[in-house]
Amino acid sequence: MDDSFDVVIVGGAIMGAMTAYFLTLDPAFRGRVAVVERDTTFAQSSTTLSAASLRQQFSIPENIRMSLFGLEFLRTAKERLGPDTDLAWHEGGYLLLASEAGVPILTANHRVQKNEGADIELMTPDRIKADFPWLNVEDIAAGAYGVSGEGWFDAHAFLMATRAAAKALGAHFISGEVVSIERDASRVTGVTLADGRRLGCGSLVNAAGPRGGRVAALAGLALPVEGRKRCVFVVHCRTPLPRLPLLVDPSGFYIRPEGAYQICGAPPSEENDPDAHGDFEVDWSVFEEGIWPALAHRIPAMEELKLVRAWAGHYEMNLLDYNAVIGPHPELTNFYFMNGFSGHGLQQAPAAGRAIAEWIVHGRSVSLDLDVFGYERIAAGRPHAELNII
Ligand SMILES: Cc1cc2nc3c(=O)[nH]c(=O)nc-3n(C[C@H](O)[C@H](O)[C@H](O)COP(=O)(O)OP(=O)(O)OC[C@H]3O[C@@H](n4cnc5c(N)ncnc54)[C@H](O)[C@@H]3O)c2cc1C
Repeated sequence: MDDSFDVVIVGGAIMGAMTAYFLTLDPAFRGRVAVVERDTTFAQSSTTLSAASLRQQFSIPENIRMSLFGLEFLRTAKERLGPDTDLAWHEGGYLLLASEAGVPILTANHRVQKNEGADIELMTPDRIKADFPWLNVEDIAAGAYGVSGEGWFDAHAFLMATRAAAKALGAHFISGEVVSIERDASRVTGVTLADGRRLGCGSLVNAAGPRGGRVAALAGLALPVEGRKRCVFVVHCRTPLPRLPLLVDPSGFYIRPEGAYQICGAPPSEENDPDAHGDFEVDWSVFEEGIWPALAHRIPAMEELKLVRAWAGHYEMNLLDYNAVIGPHPELTNFYFMNGFSGHGLQQAPAAGRAIAEWIVHGRSVSLDLDVFGYERIAAGRPHAELNII
């Protein structure tokens, strides 16, 4: 072995960095941590290509609890990550619109969210029209609006500040790609990097984002996580849209402000959503044929807009149930998953990083019970689905 660490984290974007941060922060942890990253430009990481927004409008209590901790983390980022931290956190709210058919789910989710202490208000179409007069509500039956605690932030600044804080606390950051994982019957023993370096490890954390399934396979484990391409389009609407929140339309698109512009996106149809490994080409037809007509219907001022630019990133999709897989493998007990966040991982990274650090140091997730997201359901093929995937 060229070197040895108590914990080797594969992937140095937000999940890996948060785990290193919470591990090195814990006074009960006195070990050495290495964060191994194959591309330190992060040009293709989900973290830097994301829409960087945070909501509590989920259907599963544990998702809401994780995002509420994400909110607390963002609101206190200066105290946690350093006084110069500026994450540009803006509490602009989400507004989820529902047609008649969507009302039962919207109201059932709203009950769960209120129960968890989220500040979400159900709105009638008249109330929506009064607050957001530029919206067409003629086919809308209800909406759910995040009065506080939902919004958007700067993902790149979030990543850089977290990595810097973890580094200052003593984490080692290594540039390299993990290409093989050594193990015996019940333990991971080390990893090999593409340049031949070998690192011994006491525990291994899979924080490889859309490549999480591939990294699990290096240890002989099955994890149904693949990259799914999601394009983000930057547009400019000449007519002002006062108080534009992160709007989610029943047709599937979302839009939110981004400085002087707006960003929007929508999932492709299921049959047009293959494993996107290596494919970062923007699919312009998603905008032309899908988003724009729906956008112009919902916000008539958007019939005239300028398409400024676009990018494509990958959701780290858990094909079983669109939810995170967090915690140790039941048999390979020092292999930890933090994978499959399916498009809502940035906001959940603080809760996920804290949970993995607690598992490693204390043998369980102390702050939040996240057993519903354990690997056991994957092994059993028993989905625990999130209904609000945006
Ligand atoms: C278009 C888009 C919009 C999104 N919008 C939101 C949103 O609004 N809110 C939200 O909360 N989430 C959002 N997400 C999801 C969010 O970005 C991800 O859940 C989150 O960033 C996952 O972080 P990660 O660190 O696991 O993955 P990544 O950021 O992909 O990082 C994984 C890292 O692992 C490295 N790696 C992989 N394999 C290896 C290896 N073998 N050796 C070494 N390094 C390796 C990669 O290079 C990469 O840097 C969005 C994602 C996309 C693509």
